[in-house]
Amino acid sequence: MSEKFDAIVVGAGPAGISCAYDLAKGGASVLLLERGEYPGSKNVMGGVLYRKMMEDLIPGFYKEAPLERPITEQRFMMMDKESAVTFSYKGMEWAKEPYNNFTVLRAKFDQWFADKAVEQGAILINETVVLECIVENGKVIGVRTDRPNGEVYADVVVLADGVNSLLAQSLGFHKEYRPDEVALATMEILKLDKKIIEDRFNLEDNQGCTIELFGDATKGILGTGFLYTNKDTLSLGVGTLLSGLIKHKIKPYELLEYVKSHPMIRPYIQGSEPQEYLAHLIPEGGYNSMGKIVGDGVIVIGDASQLVNAIHREGSNLAMTSGRLAAETILSAKEVGDFSERILDQYRTKLLSSFVGQDMKKYKDSTHHFDKFPQYFTDYIPMVNKAASQMFTVDGSSKWEKQKKIWSDLGTTKEKMKLARDVYRAWKVIK
Ligand SMILES: Cc1cc2nc3c(=O)[nH]c(=O)nc-3n(C[C@H](O)[C@H](O)[C@H](O)COP(=O)(O)OP(=O)(O)OC[C@H]3O[C@@H](n4cnc5c(N)ncnc54)[C@H](O)[C@@H]3O)c2cc1C
Repeated sequence: MSEKFDAIVVGAGPAGISCAYDLAKGGASVLLLERGEYPGSKNVMGGVLYRKMMEDLIPGFYKEAPLERPITEQRFMMMDKESAVTFSYKGMEWAKEPYNNFTVLRAKFDQWFADKAVEQGAILINETVVLECIVENGKVIGVRTDRPNGEVYADVVVLADGVNSLLAQSLGFHKEYRPDEVALATMEILKLDKKIIEDRFNLEDNQGCTIELFGDATKGILGTGFLYTNKDTLSLGVGTLLSGLIKHKIKPYELLEYVKSHPMIRPYIQGSEPQEYLAHLIPEGGYNSMGKIVGDGVIVIGDASQLVNAIHREGSNLAMTSGRLAAETILSAKEVGDFSERILDQYRTKLLSSFVGQDMKKYKDSTHHFDKFPQYFTDYIPMVNKAASQMFTVDGSSKWEKQKKIWSDLGTTKEKMKLARDVYRAWKVIK
């Protein structure tokens, strides 16, 4: 038999690295396997990294990590074809230590983060694809990789291989996801002079802005777009449910081109040079799509277990928290020398009672709801834009007349009742 570890972690994304970091710190022997040339080389994210979850792992990480900008302003743009209603919050408390959140480029960040796990004692091997789990008497005892004699063994295998986790699927932990359970996102990293970025987004040095795009950014299909500021690049992307793209026969890159040429976005990116084009799936099925996450000798974490809060564009923080909770569970299992499903199930209990499980349950019906009732994006956002245009146009009519006009544009009494019902329904699924 080849080498045996306490744990093998498959996938060096935020989930896998966090888990490997804490396991190694806790004295376990850990092998971290990554298929990419280096951690982050294949990874895609709009780019918001949440400080709290990183600080839980590495206090003061922001003093040395390759971060782009601290986010000091968050804008939300509800877009119609030639207009947008925007609201935002900007706070100087986010511009100073310990900051709030940061924009990052995963190719740089993941590499740095994985090095930190290696400093703790984890062994990282890149360019290694895990082909399958080795199962003996119903227990996972190791993995088979694409390297010659590539079998490696461990007391526990942690699957952190990201959305669609083929490894968890082959163990029968979840079925193949339906197109309405995953979103497909495409994004570009656009090179732009640092000073121009700061002028266009009203930023000072070491300040950053995120803009979330709703409505026409996705041509009304359920999904969102984003435009984030990095040091001297912008991250611009758009993601929609795969089922929406199929139904509307739109190719993902066509949607991205549409956003780039939209009159509300074009001025921000004018003169920029595309540096990188990226595409990736996002698990958006929510709590009801989560499969089995614990078995004998195996734990599933991060995107591999559908841990994404699409309403709040959170994923990396859920991934990191799940990685830490998995590490905590494995270290206790190591103390008693029992890696059975019964003992490892503590991970599931801890995860579901943490903010991760709470939020997954809170928004369990949100994707399904907004997918079933597309009028929020197709009708109501244009309606808000039209009302704003009418209200803010000074044309000699009184404000009473304007309010009456806006009210009558909401339609017949029946249509107004439907609108009120939809607002109530939306409140119920996200409350
Ligand atoms: C366009 C886009 C924008 C996003 N924006 C945000 C955001 O702003 N903020 C946020 O918090 N989240 C965001 N997310 C979600 C976030 O990226 C994910 O939730 C997060 O990366 C999940 O981490 P993970 O470690 O579980 O998976 P991943 O980051 O996908 O990592 C999985 C790793 O496993 C490796 N791997 C896969 N299969 C194998 C195998 N068989 N053998 C070896 N290695 C393997 C992969 O190469 C990869 O390195 C976004 C996602 C996308 C696609």
